[in-house]
Parts: sequence; structure tokens; C-alpha cells
Amino acid sequence: MSVALFALGGTIAMSGHQGGVVARLTAADLTAGVPGLAELGVPVHVHDVDAVPSADLTFARILDVVDRAAAAVRGGASGVVVTQGTDTLEETAFLADLVWPHAQPLVFTGAMRNPTLAGADGPANVLAAVEVAASPAARGLGVLVAFDDDIHAARWVRKTHSTSTATFASPNAGPIGHVVEGRVRVLAAPPPRTPLDRPDPERLATTRVALHTMTLDDDGAALDGLADTHQGLVVAAYGVGHVPSALAAPLGTLAGRIPVVLTSRTGAGPVLSHTYGAVGSETDLLRRGLLNGGLLHPYQARVLLRTLLAADADRDRIARVFAERA
Ligand code: ASP
Repeated sequence: MSVALFALGGTIAMSGHQGGVVARLTAADLTAGVPGLAELGVPVHVHDVDAVPSADLTFARILDVVDRAAAAVRGGASGVVVTQGTDTLEETAFLADLVWPHAQPLVFTGAMRNPTLAGADGPANVLAAVEVAASPAARGLGVLVAFDDDIHAARWVRKTHSTSTATFASPNAGPIGHVVEGRVRVLAAPPPRTPLDRPDPERLATTRVALHTMTLDDDGAALDGLADTHQGLVVAAYGVGHVPSALAAPLGTLAGRIPVVLTSRTGAGPVLSHTYGAVGSETDLLRRGLLNGGLLHPYQARVLLRTLLAADADRDRIARVFAERA
């Protein structure tokens, strides 16, 4: 039994005081001296991929890490850990989950307190992530996030707080398990899913999906000409999927040219499909051709739409996948 660990940077790998901490610790640094790690008896093979804030991660980089993780699994690893910054972790883990085809756990983690601070959480999170990656109980659950001794399914997890070490939560479902005294306890397994096709790297580079959050008195000016520069749009609408009535027609016109996905800006709960009837309501927007993002958070919907477009999915396929996964 062994675990492969890929380090991408983030707070967990930051040190130095002059002008603020920056990512500079290696994967070997992250695992050296973690209390309890050696005692697990699970060899951890470390790989340095990047040392960047997670704001600098890209779809291409994450898909490259997924490939490397898959190679590690084919080479015999029982599971894989990815360490990175927490800022974009909900999106990177979601992206990896869309395409991860293996039963072996691929587990993302990071830290909220950098290693220079009292109570730095990186070592505990690395230990928990390795425990999850090595655990038979975590097989077949897709991509996971191990953080603060909780285990979350990548398909449901969100970063919900800018500083708390308990920032990761799954508002619609709750954590699927916990790590307690080194034991991985999975309480609710997410249903299995067929992995999506890998996006084409060249197409990915030219596929732009915009995210527009509706705000009070929104005049929609930012939507003008959007179909000329973007291949898709996610709308983070009010509540259960509503926009100002004046924007219903322009959104319908956009939906005639590019896929437009309707999500909720609230952070939890679904977009409805047939409750409200006013112009700009969910019923009206869906009738105008917008796709229902359901329970998907706007950031997740954007990752899914860009992945599908870059894998050359046509409109029907996009609608089908959103209907299945939303
Ligand atoms: N800014 C950091 C990053 O995402 C935050 C973190 O790692 O917690 O890289």
C-alpha cells in the first residue's frame, strides 16, 4: 500500500515573513515531521508540481495533475493526495471529479493557517488526507476533500469562510464522513457517476464561459455582446432562479446563441422549475431556453459547462448532462 502526493502550493506550503508569506515549501517539507504519518506505515511518494497561490491554477494544470494521479494509480498507488491553496479548491476538486475514472481515492486538501502560525492546520490535513487516500472505505467515492477531519464529496463541497479552519462545508448534503482517531468513517456515499470525456486542451484554451451574478437594480450591461466573446454563460440568479424582468428577453436571446445555465446566487438549495410565473422567473427563463443548473453552485456550473464545451459536447449533450447532474 502506498499513496502518491502532488503539491501545488497554497497556504499549506507558505513560509517567509518579509512582505507576507509565499508558497515555497516542497512536497517533502509538507510530509516531513507530520505527527503520526510515519506510524501509519503507508509510504507517501511525493511530487512537486507547482508552488503557487491557487489563484494561479488553471483547468489545464488540474487535468495534468489528474493524468499524473492516474499514472500513479496505474503504477500501484492505493490513492492520491493533492495539496493546494484553498481559494479555488472547490472548483479544482469538482473539475477533477468530473473526469476521474478510478476507484482509488483522489483526495484534495490544503490549509487555512500557514506554517508560521500557531495551530497551523496543514499537518493535520495532510495526515487526514493520506489516511483517506489509503483507506479501502474511501474507494469508489470519486474525488474527495479531506479537511478539518471532515470528508466531503468534491461534487458537493464549498469554501464557505475566508479564514476559518472549518471553511469547507457541503451545504446541500453535509460531509460524507469523518476521520476519527485515524479511522476513516464514511457515513454517506455519493452515488456513482460515469466520468465525462476529457476536454481537448486546445479547445479548452479557447473556450470561455462567463459567470454573471445578478445584483439589485442590475441593468445587464455586462451581458451586452457576450455571445461574441464567450461560448457559454452561467447566470447566478436571485433565489430560486430569478432575474429582473427587463433581462429576461436579452437572456433568452443569448440562450439562442450559446448555452446559458441558470443557477442560484444563494449558495445552497436548487433552482426551481415551475413555481413562479412572472417575467424573469425560473419558469419564464427555462421556457426561453436557459438550462436549469439545479443544485449546482454557480462556480460548479461554470466548471461543468466549460468542460463539456471543451470536450466538443453539442447542445443536446450539454442539456442532458446538466439534467443528470443538476
Ligand atoms: N490564497 C491561498 C491560496 O488559495 C489560500 C489558501 O491556501 O488557503 O493559495
